[in-house]
Amino acid sequence: MSGLTTTVYQIGLSHRRAACYVRAPFPRRSPSSFRSRRPPPLPPLPRRRMIRLDRISLREIHLALKEPFRISSGVESTRRILLLELTDRDGASVWAECVAGALPNYTPETIDTAWLAIREWLAPRLFGRTLPDATGVHALLAENIRGHNMAKAALEMGCWGLESVIQRTPLALLLGGTRTEVPTGISLGIQSAPERLVERALAALAAGYRKIKIKIQPDQDVAYARAVRAAVGPDVELMADANAAYSIEDADHLVQLDDVKLLMLEQPLGADELLQLAELQRRMTTPLCLDESITDVRRARDMIALGSGRIINIKPGRVGGFTASRAIHDLCQAAGVPVWCGGMLESGIGRAYNVALASLPNFSLPGDLSPSARYWAADIVAPEWTMTASGMVRVPREEPGLGVRVDVERLEAITTRTEVLTAPRTMVPVA
Ligand SMILES: [Mg+2]
Repeated sequence: MSGLTTTVYQIGLSHRRAACYVRAPFPRRSPSSFRSRRPPPLPPLPRRRMIRLDRISLREIHLALKEPFRISSGVESTRRILLLELTDRDGASVWAECVAGALPNYTPETIDTAWLAIREWLAPRLFGRTLPDATGVHALLAENIRGHNMAKAALEMGCWGLESVIQRTPLALLLGGTRTEVPTGISLGIQSAPERLVERALAALAAGYRKIKIKIQPDQDVAYARAVRAAVGPDVELMADANAAYSIEDADHLVQLDDVKLLMLEQPLGADELLQLAELQRRMTTPLCLDESITDVRRARDMIALGSGRIINIKPGRVGGFTASRAIHDLCQAAGVPVWCGGMLESGIGRAYNVALASLPNFSLPGDLSPSARYWAADIVAPEWTMTASGMVRVPREEPGLGVRVDVERLEAITTRTEVLTAPRTMVPVA
């Protein structure tokens, strides 16, 4: 009697019937021949490490710009930057950056409001929890806490960074990025005269930048754009960004920009004016691109439905992090709307997150991903971000985490304040 018939007999059939059941479908084989055909045991599945935030260090640094950067809402000479270092209970750590500025002139947030929001409301949401990965962090931070997208994004993107360190996976691959390098453009601040802007644009082209973006404001717009177009020729990708400096009453004036054949006109009207933006878009042949208006995926959906713009500038800080950025990216990809990654005068840490995001497939237009030397005499990361002669920035796809190291010694020298937030000792499980 084989081992099989004996097993069936033991669960209740008679000895004779059990033998029939087993012998009919299977030829009689010795127990040793069954053993030799059995597949080898599967290796145990690797245990996926959870994220259990234990400590968040907040740090403000003052990083001097090489030259003042002027846009329609103000000028910046020294960048106040809020950095976070997230550490999990098993000792893994990563740096992240909050892109809020010193003043509430881009969104209502500032470094100081972000610091408060992270300490008082957002970090306590994450402490004490066991997170399977970073995808659920956005929803955790959004529940009953309105706004504060840049503060939320700093933590949320930090969790993505921490996951990439824990899983030993490059951040770009964790996000689903497909590009090995991304094209970059330059953003040129408002200059004192069109000739000065033309000089800057020509120098940028010579350096290899793939797109020239000029900041404009009333009285420093059409003549400046025309001068640059005349200097660079018809084939260069040239665009203008007004940072919400106009109203719909300026439509007749803005229509003059159609002659300049801009790649796009970015955020000409206020952030909340989707209906007026749709009216302006109907009157202009130049595609409108929205920046400040798009604070989440629902606003992106509204833009598409209303025709308020044809392109979106995705800044992960503005929309609350990577999960929201990917949702907007996917929505736009399905709707045939191109996106690109904007900049917020980030240090090399924030740049690492933007480059990873810009490696997603629908980031089909050059981003504001300038190399470190564009803004800073010395960046806070090593290696510094560089650009090829043809305007491409390499996406780190081999190294786990951000792909750059932080120069902590340099950070210490330019730090103006720090605060360490720590998790309570009791952990609660979270689905
Ligand atoms: Mg903009």
